[in-house]
Amino acid sequence: MFTLKGIPASDGIAIASAYKIGKEIFDISKKSITEEQIPLEIQLFEEALTQTRREIIGLQERISKEMGRETAEIFDAHLLVLEDRMLIEEVILRLKQERLNVAYIFSEVLKKYINIFSKIEDEYLKERIADINDVGRRILRKLTGKEYASLDNLKERVVVVAHDLSPSDTASMHKKNVAALLTDVGGRTSHTAIMAKSLEIPAVVGLKDATSKIEDQDLLIVDGTEGLVIVNPDEETLEIYRQKEKKLLRLTERFMLTKDLPSLTLDGIRVKVLANIELPEEIESAKQHGAEGIGLYRTEFFYMNRKDLPSEEEHYQAYRYVSEMMAPYEVVIRTLDLGGDKFISQVQIPQEMYPFLGWRAIRFCLTRPDIFKIQLRAILKASAHGNLRLMYPMISSIEEFRQANSILEECKEELKKEGFAFNENIKVGAMIELPSAALTSDLLAEEADFFSIGTNDLIQYSLAVDRANENVAYLYEPAHPAVLRMIKNVIEAGHSMGIEVGMCGEMAGELKFVPLLLGLGLDEFSVPAVMIPQIKYIIRTLNKKEMELFAKQALSLATAKEVEQLCDEKLKEIMGR
Ligand code: PEP
Ligand code: MG
Repeated sequence: MFTLKGIPASDGIAIASAYKIGKEIFDISKKSITEEQIPLEIQLFEEALTQTRREIIGLQERISKEMGRETAEIFDAHLLVLEDRMLIEEVILRLKQERLNVAYIFSEVLKKYINIFSKIEDEYLKERIADINDVGRRILRKLTGKEYASLDNLKERVVVVAHDLSPSDTASMHKKNVAALLTDVGGRTSHTAIMAKSLEIPAVVGLKDATSKIEDQDLLIVDGTEGLVIVNPDEETLEIYRQKEKKLLRLTERFMLTKDLPSLTLDGIRVKVLANIELPEEIESAKQHGAEGIGLYRTEFFYMNRKDLPSEEEHYQAYRYVSEMMAPYEVVIRTLDLGGDKFISQVQIPQEMYPFLGWRAIRFCLTRPDIFKIQLRAILKASAHGNLRLMYPMISSIEEFRQANSILEECKEELKKEGFAFNENIKVGAMIELPSAALTSDLLAEEADFFSIGTNDLIQYSLAVDRANENVAYLYEPAHPAVLRMIKNVIEAGHSMGIEVGMCGEMAGELKFVPLLLGLGLDEFSVPAVMIPQIKYIIRTLNKKEMELFAKQALSLATAKEVEQLCDEKLKEIMGR
């Protein structure tokens, strides 16, 4: 038994044997053809192109029905490759000049293209290599008459283990036969991750050497939530995970029944449950899980994996898309939260001794209005198309909030002059993630339209615990009385000025804290999409008035351990109902 750790890409637990899929090898020999054979070879090529086109459109239609139009759009790039005149003409020209079989010529041209693209230092173009490869393989199968052992005819439920999976590999799988997906490469926003999430198949990506360490038929436990793979587990471990899997299944079934119901407490109090997203693609899953809006759109991911900074138009298109998709629900766009643990290659931030205390988030944006304004203008423009709000990260004082707002006002003036429509009264919130903001939330509440508590940073800063350092992880306690007092303070300050207070840090998605946060008066929970049904379920079983008493009890305790224990017991009681 051994364990592999990768990047968690899609939640859930699966236990099944490994099914490795290797690279498809084409044995294409070079054959001379006669003058008369040329038209026949060209015809063969054209037929292969048409058949491939039909195949992809068919696949696209199926995916669109099963996983939504968004996911199916991945194949648009494949269809474009099929229409690439340069590629097609080069094949035909070389075929005539060199008088060689079309399969050979095509594979040579394909190699040349892939070679050119792989030399370009651009993440986007690198992604295109996968598309060219994928389509190229389909065409070669037609040209060589080779049958492909595709994933749609798997006989038993397996964990698919691959170096990488192409979108069409993933799409041709049937959920019933694929227990989980593991890949050596890929990040949390790779095609595999996106598709696995929409198929709700547990997945771990970025495992580096899963394909060399795992053998066909090895028994695997995949924990997609933790990013863990246990290879050939002993009986004891197996039993633990079997129980976990069963419990998870039972719970998921129960939760999904409530996902589209309004999140009302038993005494009729409305508490919104929204989704956190990092990319527009995640909207689909947010909606599927019953999100009543987006409470945190972390826009810094938009700046990653690219050479240049996104243009105003690109920002605008993304924000417009998200707000239109979620309308009439609200979408809260968080302005660029760079620095700390999030870096981009286009902007050089000097190495700092304490990056989390350094030039990050709103501090960065206030000193780089050139970059900040591009984003603000785009948010404003998109606000004409939906229910958009914006919020600033890392606010430490009312001065910073005012400075950011004065740049926003500048942008409004500019857009007015340029004749663009936008929502003049767009709601502007402050993230409360610094103790200084939490302790002056009464002052901030006078000027902010809403608050969103960012517990990930609030805990790190108030307890002086690096959120990413495993050596001090035991001190990272959401239930610490200092944290709870701050949360209480922020909610009360917000309510006394009549503004909504939400929470978008991970604490909002921890089931055991839901009763406590509800009792403290939280108006909005913004959580990873998959958590929404469960949070709604819990809210619907609780009485707000009773939870206020529960929160009082929790706040009277002296240690985080005691609070956690109390919250754990409460959760058990709710789930046992
Ligand atoms: C937070 O700090 O709680 C938060 C939601 O923001 P991030 O995790 O992106 O810093
Ligand atoms: Mg934060």
